[in-house]
Amino acid sequence: MVVLKGEAIILRTYPLKETDKLIVLFSQEYGKIRGVVNGGRRIKSRFTGRLEPLSWIEFSGFQRRNQELVSIDSIEVIKGFGLILEDYDTFLRSTYLLEVILKTMPDWEVNQNLFRLLLHVLPAFVKTDTSSAALLYFQVWYLKFGGFLPDLYKCSRCGDHLAKNGRTYCGDKIQGLMCKACKSGMGREISINNMKLLRSLTKMSLIEILKENQISRNVGQLTNIVEELIETSFERRFDTFSAIKQEL
Ligand SMILES: [Zn+2]
Repeated sequence: MVVLKGEAIILRTYPLKETDKLIVLFSQEYGKIRGVVNGGRRIKSRFTGRLEPLSWIEFSGFQRRNQELVSIDSIEVIKGFGLILEDYDTFLRSTYLLEVILKTMPDWEVNQNLFRLLLHVLPAFVKTDTSSAALLYFQVWYLKFGGFLPDLYKCSRCGDHLAKNGRTYCGDKIQGLMCKACKSGMGREISINNMKLLRSLTKMSLIEILKENQISRNVGQLTNIVEELIETSFERRFDTFSAIKQEL
């Protein structure tokens, strides 16, 4: 029997049998893990109010040999970012974040950077005025951690430097950014401001970006491009994003 202990973000819970719950956690120490919370569905359970998705928790549990699921025996909430949200847009963005991690992170793959990123963006995710910036920040860094973020300074075709105030394009199946001379067919232009923002997202903390007010309200185009990159890179589609797109 192996004892597990650590900090995690709750990604999702599902009913299991009559009284139990299946829980999916993204933990700092073990990556994404699945566990069983015995009695988690009972009204008077010691886990009542502790199983909300997006909660930052301290947990302990154990895993028997040859068993995939961890038996969770304690959960203490450090901070609940809560899916009890102020509005529909914020709810969608948070649901999308959970969906991306659930669908693309393999179980038991430790990723401390991702855990830190979640703690960095979640406070801004659950607020109406900062959630779109937080979403973009999360998407860009998620791509970067996966090694999928294209070079933001060089044309992917000719290797020339992408000038700060020059035109930058991306293709339909985004394989990298392009200069004006290399753009072929239906290349979409990324505005100078959006390129500037994209670069800042990889260099500054979200708090600094929000403080400097660098994120305009119009992040829709960039969010769409970055989302396409995520779908192409991870070869997955995310149901929640089509709902977000309608709201953009
Ligand atoms: Zn070029």
